[in-house]
Amino acid sequence: MKIDWDSLGFEARPAPRMFVAEFRNGSWDRGRTVDYGPLALEPAAGILNYGQGLFEGMKAYRTRDGRIVMFRPEANARRLNDGCRRLCMPELEEGFFVESIAALVRESRDYVPPFEKGDLYIRPILFGSGPVLGVNPAPSYTFCVFTSPVGPYFKSGFSGIRVEIKEDFHRAPLAGTGAVKAVGNYATSLLPKRLVKARGRDEVLYLDARQSRYVEEVGSANVFVLKGDAIATPRLRGSILPGVTRDAILRLAESRFGLEAEERDIGFEELFEADELFCTGTAAVITPILSVFHREVEHPIGNAAPGARTTALYRELKGIQLGEKPDGFGWIYEIG
Ligand SMILES: *Cc1c(COP(=O)(O)O)cnc(C)c1O
Repeated sequence: MKIDWDSLGFEARPAPRMFVAEFRNGSWDRGRTVDYGPLALEPAAGILNYGQGLFEGMKAYRTRDGRIVMFRPEANARRLNDGCRRLCMPELEEGFFVESIAALVRESRDYVPPFEKGDLYIRPILFGSGPVLGVNPAPSYTFCVFTSPVGPYFKSGFSGIRVEIKEDFHRAPLAGTGAVKAVGNYATSLLPKRLVKARGRDEVLYLDARQSRYVEEVGSANVFVLKGDAIATPRLRGSILPGVTRDAILRLAESRFGLEAEERDIGFEELFEADELFCTGTAAVITPILSVFHREVEHPIGNAAPGARTTALYRELKGIQLGEKPDGFGWIYEIG
């Protein structure tokens, strides 16, 4: 596979190897790397009938001196296990998760883009592969990891996006599965996304399912509001996905920028008064939000260009991930 590193977007271009492990008769096997290709599934598989499945999203980064690193992979392991408990699936040992992925990335090193050309996106999936008929947990499970070199998630890259508040769709029901990366959460997001795209916006901004009043997330990314010396993000109330990037930004904002970091309820009107607005995720990194549409009215944020603090936080985070800035938190996992 010959890759043009300069034309990478965010599409699936799977690298030639993948990792597969199976859970049968009450335990996980040790797994193995194999050639990327179709997985055999029987029609009665739990994932196909009742959506018993989770995914994760991570990246491997190439440093300036050619090393390959990951960012907080154990946090993804913990989050996957939170999802396993919620969906009645067998958990994976954290060390097994991290080491299996490290081994796959090592085998896929030629597909980690050069420094600053992109990243190797890592997609772990875990799903019920054994047969079910009644609504029950499957008797067996598959853990699989594939990778794909990627460029920026949003075509506009760091230049920013326009979002629309959607009151007629919610991302996550109360006390549902919004806090875990359950596959079904994303199937329901396709239609609202298609509707806002048809109106020329880039993403959906979701409000809470109880009152349609509080900000939840932007598409599949967490949201931050900067105002004065405070930075706020919606508190984790069970419907919001606890992003690894979200957590990193909260900590960087406080410790390296002296901002007051708050996790609280944010009424949607607060967005219109923000100095700066952005969303975060492994794929989105930090993406500035330039305007928010609400009931046909476009509210420009700040001066409708990436803000100074958003840019500084972006540089800090990317700097740590690419090994250019000191990682004082133990976030970087060296692959070699
Ligand atoms: C994955 C995801 C995020 C971002 O999480 P990161 O760990 O930062 O990548 C945010 N919101 C939703 C709904 C997600 O699925």
